[in-house]
Amino acid sequence: MISLRKLHPLIVSCLLAAVCTWASAQSAKPNVIILATGGTIAGAGASASNSATYTAAKVPVEKLIAGLPELGNVANVKGEQVFQIASENMTNEHLMTLGKRVSALVKQADVDGIVITHGTDTLEETAYFLNLVIRTNKPVVLVASMRPSTALSADGALNLLNAVTVAASKDAAGKGVLVAMNDEIQSGRDVSKNVNIKTEAFKSQWGALGMTVEGVNYWFRAPIKRHTQQSEFNIDEMSALASVEIVYSYANVPRVAFDAVSKTGIQAIVHGGPGNGSVADRIVPVLKDIRAQGVQVIRSSRVPDGFVLRNAEQPDDKYDWVVAHDLRPQKARILAAVALTKTNSSKELQRIFWEY
Ligand code: GLU
Repeated sequence: MISLRKLHPLIVSCLLAAVCTWASAQSAKPNVIILATGGTIAGAGASASNSATYTAAKVPVEKLIAGLPELGNVANVKGEQVFQIASENMTNEHLMTLGKRVSALVKQADVDGIVITHGTDTLEETAYFLNLVIRTNKPVVLVASMRPSTALSADGALNLLNAVTVAASKDAAGKGVLVAMNDEIQSGRDVSKNVNIKTEAFKSQWGALGMTVEGVNYWFRAPIKRHTQQSEFNIDEMSALASVEIVYSYANVPRVAFDAVSKTGIQAIVHGGPGNGSVADRIVPVLKDIRAQGVQVIRSSRVPDGFVLRNAEQPDDKYDWVVAHDLRPQKARILAAVALTKTNSSKELQRIFWEY
């Protein structure tokens, strides 16, 4: 062990200067918390050739961070394991738990941004939920991968590095909850998993907001719908989501699923209709009955792109139904489940669907 007293004073002062420079560089970096929930990004397969056959939600967040030392060049990163699940297992309770944790963290002065690792399957629902209920301008970024870290050409590492880059950036502030996938920065409101087998899986009909390339964000547009800091919803004032279910429609659809779901004490039903949210003639009276029982009826479309027009396929004013605008059924469920914690008016609900 070398005593500092035995070293030349010049060497000591050089050493101290180096330590001080390192310490101030560390404190100058933004602080990003990674909240891990599972998914393929934490998945592991039996061999490097298993890109699609593997077990999701295996690798703990500390190991994900330790495996990617480049994160330390971008931010001071800390991990927290919130859940370790495949995202098809997400429930309203998981959403509430995650949302409350994000809300608490963004209030901390020593937190600059949040990254949430997630399974790809329901990532779009969690992203939209947080976009509606977290009152912050700080970046909140969801990230996932299509291949497990054990696979050849795994996409998780770069996606995670990009997500931390976005969460650490001042230029990402105030743009709502974001999704970093495949070099793109997407709006959590607009994005959906549109491909279930390629790394280019996440798309929005309105386009990506930007891209992250070699540690730099390039922005091309910003969301116009209300979100985060401008939202009228606040997770801190919510204890549970409203009960909303989806019934999907198709040629030859029977009424059995509508009847069954309507008997479960729901506050709203989302009709995932074909085309412009069309409703089969034999299902119209069923939905009118459901509305008469005080349950909100929301017409959405199973078509990935486009948007449902009010009073076009169906006389929504006459039936007192709501249209889901451009939200697919799974996103419409999230918005209704949040909105109906504050109102039970169909007019208010329709206003909310136009604004968010
Ligand atoms: N089904 C799993 C999930 O959503 C794995 C899919 C994925 O993350 O790509 O968590």
